[in-house]
Amino acid sequence: MKAFCLLLALAVLASLPMTAFAEESSLYVKKVENLPEDFIFGMDASCVPALEASGVKYYNFDGQETDVYQVLAENGVNYIRVRIWNDPFNSDGKGYGGGNCDINNAIAIGQRATKANMKLLVNFHYSDFWADPAKQMVPKAWKGMDIEQKTEAVYQYTLDCLTQLKDAGVDVGMVQVGNETNNYMCGEKTWFNIQYLMQAGAKATREVYPEALVALHFANPEKAGSYATYAKKMDYYQVDYDVFASSYYPYWHGSLENLSAVLTDIANTYGKKVMVMETSYAYTEEDTDFNGNTIGGGGTIIKDYPFTVQGQANSLRAITDTIVNGTGGAGIGVVYWEGTWISVGGESWEENHELWEKHGSGWASSYAAAYDAADAGRYYGGCAVDNQALFDQHGKPLESLKVFKLVREGNEITPVADALEDVTIICDLNAPLTLPETVNAVMTDDSKQAIPVAWDFTEEMDAQMHSSGVAQYTITGQAGGMEAKCYVSMVEYNYLQDYSFEEGSDVWQITDLKKADELYIEDKKTDSLTGSKHMHFWSAAKDSVEFTLEQQAQNLPVGKYKFTVSIMGGDAGKTDIYAYAKVNGQIVATAPMGITGYGNWDTAVTPDFTCTAEDTVVVGVYVKCQGAGNGAWGKIDDALLNSVQ
Ligand code: CA
Repeated sequence: MKAFCLLLALAVLASLPMTAFAEESSLYVKKVENLPEDFIFGMDASCVPALEASGVKYYNFDGQETDVYQVLAENGVNYIRVRIWNDPFNSDGKGYGGGNCDINNAIAIGQRATKANMKLLVNFHYSDFWADPAKQMVPKAWKGMDIEQKTEAVYQYTLDCLTQLKDAGVDVGMVQVGNETNNYMCGEKTWFNIQYLMQAGAKATREVYPEALVALHFANPEKAGSYATYAKKMDYYQVDYDVFASSYYPYWHGSLENLSAVLTDIANTYGKKVMVMETSYAYTEEDTDFNGNTIGGGGTIIKDYPFTVQGQANSLRAITDTIVNGTGGAGIGVVYWEGTWISVGGESWEENHELWEKHGSGWASSYAAAYDAADAGRYYGGCAVDNQALFDQHGKPLESLKVFKLVREGNEITPVADALEDVTIICDLNAPLTLPETVNAVMTDDSKQAIPVAWDFTEEMDAQMHSSGVAQYTITGQAGGMEAKCYVSMVEYNYLQDYSFEEGSDVWQITDLKKADELYIEDKKTDSLTGSKHMHFWSAAKDSVEFTLEQQAQNLPVGKYKFTVSIMGGDAGKTDIYAYAKVNGQIVATAPMGITGYGNWDTAVTPDFTCTAEDTVVVGVYVKCQGAGNGAWGKIDDALLNSVQ
């Protein structure tokens, strides 16, 4: 995926006058065909009471302070999802954070949702704090129970909570038995035991809310065969449920084509309804609460769309289209995760920390150490998803909140530039630097278009860059009302061809001594040192990585040279890796290289060596990895053969 530079779109959107017509929007939205009237557009808004206690206020599109559940309902949200933890408090009654989401919190939210004519989706974690694929801790009060006792406890607890919600007049439309229960639930690790707990939760739901749907919730649709396995287990044990629900975070959870395929398979095989139970997308790379976010700039994340308000809407629209039109008619809804979780609004980490601790409005408080010492007890803090909310840091709704309504009829207005792709240039110190006259813009309809750019680049800068040796520069400019960026690397003359593997030419010779599972040029910008391609290797078995990668230099003048090349990788175990130069078949210079983890590029430079008349010079990399168990992998990029004065 391309890296996009951000973004003034938000400021542009915010400055537009908001009129009485909710449909009037600067957002480009393609209509979702066949969208049922009763399609579930859900919002997990579990943290709201804790945020409000911390001083957060929410507004409608007219700028009036309004009950946020009302704002959501007005904009097409018809379900509110709320998580329930059994007892998210320590022995002194101090909350673990994450909204301190106990049953009382769920009742308060449920009443507000019901008042705004939305249904409640109750999400039982059956834990005292966060439950996810990696973590399914048993509640304190149920510790030591055998499976029979625990089954009864799940049944009674579910029955009790749902009865309290019913007595409070809450309109519950769906109950989720367990959260992201990939092979684990409530401290249990076998499907034989887990199915009893699921049955117990379903039974209690049928008794209290017979009209409500029972959902099971899993994550990681991208793991081949995993969903088919879960559904088969449920079928084998005759677990009573209606909806097979999936988390789908685009950064991690594979393609929408894959999601469509795995959910359709389950719908067709077992006659279940399917849905996306959690999703979200970032509208900015910026953090607003002094607690770093899960998704920021750069790194390894997959970015289907720019991190803009429009990108957020496009992501949500595409997921909705997949669930409506890509699941054989079995798709019933999409729920956005914690789109109301914004900054508590203090001016410093210290101020916010006080609020997070006092009201449980951060992801975890220090008090969570009593229950989850290893994770929450160490890394407690604020909100890690404030840049994925559908409200800005001041509680004003983002234009993307309108997508739930706009997908019904579409809002296919004239596309405008929404974000710009960065430009990367490698320039020889001895050659002129020419900046492009256009940059690629991502348009609001997600098409690409080259638009004119004006660079802030002077003759003085040009001269200085050419006289300062090897260095990297960032040149900025203006295009489509946004800031364009051009990254320039000034380099020495390189005698190698296709030095960064971008051209896919046959100048590089691979000798694969151990027949690695994967050894080829890969096109993945986030894994490349420069450009978008690099030499990739991976092999599952131990001792199955050993190869050389070589290029013979053409027309090399007589003189002294050095060879430079970079590598990164992981799971490599014991390694023997080095860059080398061969003159007439004899290695004359080497430089050792190491693999130390993702993104840690190790650049080796050989000692100087001499090329005399008629010499044949070959440079290369030798790689041998024993492997650490998960399959050694790595990336090689940017091979440079430079003359030495
Ligand atoms: Ca944050």
